[in-house]
Amino acid sequence: MLKLTICPTCGSGRVRRVRGTVSGKVRGRRYRAEGVSFYACPDCSERIYDREAMGAIAAARAGRRGDPGPRTKGDAAVSR
Ligand SMILES: [Zn+2]
Repeated sequence: MLKLTICPTCGSGRVRRVRGTVSGKVRGRRYRAEGVSFYACPDCSERIYDREAMGAIAAARAGRRGDPGPRTKGDAAVSR
C-alpha cells in the first residue's frame, strides 16, 4: 500500500488517509465508489488514490454499481 506523508502537489505534511465516497463524472456518466481509502490534503484539497482506490474507482466507472439512476425496490438496504 502506498504510504504518503507529504502532499505531492503542495508539499504539505498534513496529508491524511481517509475513507469515503469518490464520485465523479466520466463522459457524461456519473459514477460513485463508496468506502474508498485515499489520501487527502487539507491544504490544497488534492486527493491521491493508491492502486486499491483506483481499482474501486475503475470498477465504479465501469458501472458495476453506484448507478444513481432508477432505484429498484429493496436495493436501498444494501450498504456494502
Ligand atoms: Zn496539498
